[in-house]
Amino acid sequence: MPNKPTVKIMLLDDEPFMLRLLARQLENLGFTSLFPHASGAAALEAIAHPAGAPELILLDLNMPEMDGIEFVRHLVEQRYTGSLILISGEDERMLASASKLVQAHRIDVLGHLHKPVQTEALACLLASWQPSLRGAGQVRRKAYGADAVRAAIANGELVNYYQPKVVVGDGRVVGVETLVRWRHPTDGLVYPDQFIAVAEANGLIDDLTHAVLREALAQSRRWADAGLPLKVAINVSMDNLRSLDFADFVSREAASAGVSPADIVLEVTESRLMTDLRVPLEILTRLRLRRFRLSIDDFGTGHSSLVQLRDIPFDELKIDRSFVHHAYADPTLRAIFEANLSLARQLGIEVVAEGVEDDADWNFLRETGCDMTQGYFIARPMPAPDLPGWIDTWRTRLSPRTATELAGAIAP
Ligand code: C2E
Ligand code: MG
Ligand code: MG
Repeated sequence: MPNKPTVKIMLLDDEPFMLRLLARQLENLGFTSLFPHASGAAALEAIAHPAGAPELILLDLNMPEMDGIEFVRHLVEQRYTGSLILISGEDERMLASASKLVQAHRIDVLGHLHKPVQTEALACLLASWQPSLRGAGQVRRKAYGADAVRAAIANGELVNYYQPKVVVGDGRVVGVETLVRWRHPTDGLVYPDQFIAVAEANGLIDDLTHAVLREALAQSRRWADAGLPLKVAINVSMDNLRSLDFADFVSREAASAGVSPADIVLEVTESRLMTDLRVPLEILTRLRLRRFRLSIDDFGTGHSSLVQLRDIPFDELKIDRSFVHHAYADPTLRAIFEANLSLARQLGIEVVAEGVEDDADWNFLRETGCDMTQGYFIARPMPAPDLPGWIDTWRTRLSPRTATELAGAIAP
């Protein structure tokens, strides 16, 4: 929380009454360095002045001359680095789209408020505001080149992390998703969004997937030998599905690790459009014939869509986290979530909800009849040795009744 009396807050609303009301609410919350403006032009002029930029702007979307959306475009041109709260009498979907638009401009949106603004709602947004931490999320991330990624694979710097997948009904841990990380010798832990696309674009994704798969299968065997039977999911890029050898490679590796195909889930995402689906379709169909489980990942985003669902014999559908987190409170997300769930039900496909981040998400899922879930609320991805200890902790977090049911039974 910023130092309230000194933090500069600009208020922008064409109605003088609303300006006075907002100012009084902020003063009551302890914020006294307030700069009200009744037009976008006046506000921009103030911001352009050296030392005039506020740390937070409360912005009315509906203004007669320059509306809030246009004002945001000018803020971007002026390289505004503060935060923003949107205010409007429009409906929730309109405010949510406007928030998305502002976020796409990389401006930090604390949230949106309906008119008339409730003091508690305003206080709630301000309580979560941490202007000093803003920069942290915005550090420009390092770009890695093909040579660096090639060397990382060759030198064994890639490590698998595993995120638990649990049954929604009773919390049983039935599997894990393998998520690769790069233990960089100088940069620390590097996440897949910084090197998967590089590997795909430079013909390295087969080597990467082979390394991840081999380690995941060996780990699965170790868990099974230790009395921990878990289904292990692996992410497969569409670029892995260009060469017909892939199905044989996966089968061979599973056989030599002694892991049954039914315990291996291949999660497929189509991040960019593939025009010719014949080869991927052949590979996936052959894998399915051999009883590997196929999962459509990030369903509803990118090109992970109904066409794939129509053509590929998936066993599992993962509802993308952007439709899961906060769906309980957002009618649009909830409608999309429920439609996906019902679609999968009718096709006889199991459903995994991704991105359960808090207990409200978890409680929502428990009412929906969704099969499985994963997310930060349950556990973040972790190195393999941490998993048994985490399972013990998870059991104690579940209700006593469920924990008793679970005693000794981790998987079916
Ligand atoms: P994905 O397969 O959809 O994996 C889920 C991602 O969401 C993971 O990010 C995971 O850490 C994150 N996540 C899990 N629970 C939550 C939550 O509650 N909230 C939020 N905000 N995020 C959550 P990660 O590990 O950074 O991986 C990103 C993507 O990179 C993966 O998305 C997957 O598409 C790709 N990827 C990861 N490992 C591999 C791999 O071995 N091969 C390929 N081809 N792609 C991989
Ligand atoms: Mg995945
Ligand atoms: Mg996903």
